[in-house]
Amino acid sequence: MPGKGDHEKWYCPCGRHMAVITRTREISPGVVADTKKKLACLPEGWMQ
Ligand SMILES: [Zn+2]
Repeated sequence: MPGKGDHEKWYCPCGRHMAVITRTREISPGVVADTKKKLACLPEGWMQ
């Protein structure tokens, strides 16, 4: 499986925004907030 490791790239639906998150047991609220900021086009509540 490619991309195995603790980093993951998340792409915005628009294709122009990208965020790299570090996978941990639980993604911290700070990381969620930062990712939301970077993937600005995602609708509210995308991380369900
Ligand atoms: Zn976007």
